[in-house]
Amino acid sequence: MGELFERVVVVGSGTMGHGIAQVVAASGRSAIMVDTSTEVVEAGLGKIRENLDKGVERGKVSAEERDATLGRLSVSADLAGACAGAALVIEAVPEDLGLKRRIFEIVDGAAPAGAVLASNTSSMSITAMGSWTSRPERVIGLHFFNPVHIMSLLEIVRGELTGAQTVADCRALAASLGKEAIVVLDSPGFATSRLGIAIAMEAIRMLQEGVGSAEDIDKAMELGYRFPMGPLKLTDLVGLDVRLAITEHLYAELGTDTFRPPQLLKRMVMAGKLGKKSGEGFYNWRRG
Ligand code: NAD
Repeated sequence: MGELFERVVVVGSGTMGHGIAQVVAASGRSAIMVDTSTEVVEAGLGKIRENLDKGVERGKVSAEERDATLGRLSVSADLAGACAGAALVIEAVPEDLGLKRRIFEIVDGAAPAGAVLASNTSSMSITAMGSWTSRPERVIGLHFFNPVHIMSLLEIVRGELTGAQTVADCRALAASLGKEAIVVLDSPGFATSRLGIAIAMEAIRMLQEGVGSAEDIDKAMELGYRFPMGPLKLTDLVGLDVRLAITEHLYAELGTDTFRPPQLLKRMVMAGKLGKKSGEGFYNWRRG
């Protein structure tokens, strides 16, 4: 491994945080994962161990790689303490503006002046995050996908004031993590959510109009366009409530009818049909 971002702090050890810490440590860097308590962050470390053990069972990771990766990982419940000496801090706490702001202020005060501060946000403005710090040129979006150790995309989000060197360093980081990077401007939904939601909302409107069955609309994209999964099935997996919240946000920000929440989606969410997690969405998941 080169000298780029040798010491990385990941804030949050949930779904995304533990995955990010894992791929960072696997790339040869030292990673400190921080959460609100030792118990919570130890649970995140446990998930990394499970992922790596599964990797060894499947022959994707050697036992030596697993042990070396775990050896480069440490955990802490002291955010400011962990940030001293960090070259890169990646925030992966819940999507709550007030919480993210508090984290950025602590990190900005504690991390060295040259450190890059990144957010894994799926929808919030990177430019706004930069404005909370004394170093907006070093603030950037690093949008990983779940599960982080498997999904190959890294969406790099450039805020209005993000510096060219910060973008270049993050591109190099992506390559060293084995990820394929795209670089997009800070704009609502970035590239991934904006396109994904546009297709899903149109599919829901088509279902509402009776253009085809859920199965046939999904098959149109799976077989006709080689999507690995149709937009309605994917919405069932993500959660109808989650996608409704995203489209409401995009509609408010972008104002185009593409993102106007379809009546059918609103009705289904009100009725508790949230997709796989509730047993029913566009498909019946109770029957399997
Ligand atoms: P999560 O709820 O699974 O994990 C968040 C973690 O942050 C929890 O462990 C929580 O204890 C911790 N946390 C809360 N307050 C904290 C604090 N003050 N200091 C340190 N840790 C704190 O959430 P997630 O799904 O991992 O999402 C994290 C971020 O990633 C969000 O911004 C989300 O929008 C984004 N994201 C999520 C996904 C996904 O599929 N889940 C995909 C891409 C991006």
